This record gives sequence, structure tokens and C-alpha cells, in this order.
Amino acid sequence: MEAIRHFSDPMVSLTTVASVKWPSGPVCPRCESKRLSFLQTRLMWKCLDCKKQFSVKVGTIFEDSPIPLDKWLCAMWMLANCKNGVSSYEIARDLKVTQKTAWFMLQRLRHAMHTGSINKMTGEIEADETFVGGKARNMHMGKRIEKIHGRGPHGKAVVFGLLERKTGKAVTCVVDGRKKHHLHAEVTANVEPGSMLYTDALKSYEGLRDYEHKVIDHAEAYVDGAVHTNKMENFWSLLKRAIKGTYVSVEPFHLFRYLDEQTFRYNERKGNDCDRFKLVLGSVTGKRLTWDLLTSQEAG
Ligand SMILES: [Zn+2]
Repeated sequence: MEAIRHFSDPMVSLTTVASVKWPSGPVCPRCESKRLSFLQTRLMWKCLDCKKQFSVKVGTIFEDSPIPLDKWLCAMWMLANCKNGVSSYEIARDLKVTQKTAWFMLQRLRHAMHTGSINKMTGEIEADETFVGGKARNMHMGKRIEKIHGRGPHGKAVVFGLLERKTGKAVTCVVDGRKKHHLHAEVTANVEPGSMLYTDALKSYEGLRDYEHKVIDHAEAYVDGAVHTNKMENFWSLLKRAIKGTYVSVEPFHLFRYLDEQTFRYNERKGNDCDRFKLVLGSVTGKRLTWDLLTSQEAG
């Protein structure tokens, strides 16, 4: 509610985005001139060199969306800071938009939260996988076994995660299965060779030759000194709580967006509300993503 009040002043919303988008002052998007005049009544700038008029939304995710900036910023604040996430119904009610609009806004913001790290993980890393979705409890035994071993059209999705102990940051993704080639590909893509990997006794983790690899067999114990995957397990329980508590159910196709969201909040858990908000805002204004492009990605 405080965020809604704060951003309802159009000048506040504008300066918030402008300060992140142009840390050293506004620049003309056409000719890069900094000789500008601000049109107070239209909340736009006019370039004194090429005469172009532009708003703070230019070149951002907000540019071709009809949703006003203050609503975007409120939704961003809520998603970045509500521990278990926020549903499209809550956004719709609080910001007075339709549930469909709220849902699209949240998908855009989750995309912005997906910040693939440039650096590979090093040091001690926990790797683990889990199943998300479905209702294995209510099924007959045969069906249940089928679901746990394979992945039928109604089966659970397999989510894979890596956690770097020294930074406490995680990388997660939805994988097509939990065979050797599925999991090895993710380890190789995200972890520096020579690092120490901790996994459970799942056979698929065998043969990762470029890494030191220690296994904790959960049939025997959950912890053996440093050999455990407890931090990754903790991440799974937070993820499942958020999905169950806030979203009720998530269609498998959209699962990766919720993963991005949860991973972002987890990785930035040490920062405060403002830090997290600014990080999302930074990626929204930094990426030259248009509404059309995002919508076509969504469709694809
Ligand atoms: Zn210009």
C-alpha cells in the first residue's frame, strides 16, 4: 500500500525509472544528445538538437505497454519483495487492472528477474533435482511409480538446481528428464571444471570427470561432514511452499518463470527491499526488450 501511494505521483515514478535508466542524466534515444528540455506538462523530454520528443519509457519493457508506469513499479515492488511471491489476483485487486493484465505484467517482470550469471560457479557446489507439480499422493500405486520414473503428459516436471556455497547463490532450470545427459549438460554449462560437486546417490551424476565429486547416499545418511545437499533441499522447500501457497498450481509450460522469480528472491535475500527493487528495475530498463518481442517469446 505504501508503494502504491509512493509511486502514484507521476514525477516520482518518472524520476525512479530515469535515475536507473540514465545514471548520468537523460540522453536523446535518436542522436544521443544531452541537450534536452523537459516538457513539464507532458512529462517528456525534447531533444534540442534533433527535436525528437521521448518519454522515460523509451527502450524499456514499458515502452509499448499501455499500463501506466506507477502500476508497473508497484507490481515490481510487490514481486521483488513478497517472500512467497504475489498472485495475479492480488495484483489485479490492488492495482485495479484485470487479472489477465496482471498475469502478463507478472510474466514480464519474472523475465526481468532472470539474470543468467556470466561467471561459472566455483568452489563447493551442491547439485540436486526435484519434481514439481502433479498430485502423486492421490494416484494408484502403479500410476505413481510410472510418474516418478518417467514423465508422461500428466507427470511432474523435473527441476534441476545448483548452489554455490561460498556465495549462497543458486541456478535453477526445468530439464526434460533426469538422465545422465540432462544433468551433465547443466553442470557443464554452469560449473567451472575442477570444482567440488556434492550430490545424492542418483546414478545420473556418475561420470562427471571434470569435477571432484562426493556423494551422500540418502539411504544411509543426509549429512557426512561437508558432504550434503541441504542448502539445495532448503531451496526446494521454499519453492514448493511459494508455488502451493501463492499460486495454487503452475502449468508446466510456465514453471521456468516461477523458478526465475523464486531464484531471484533467494539469491538476493541478503539485500533489503530497495536493493531488490532496483535490481529488477535495472534489468527492465537495461534490456532493450519490447512488449511485442516478449509476447512473441511467450507464444513460442
Ligand atoms: Zn536528439
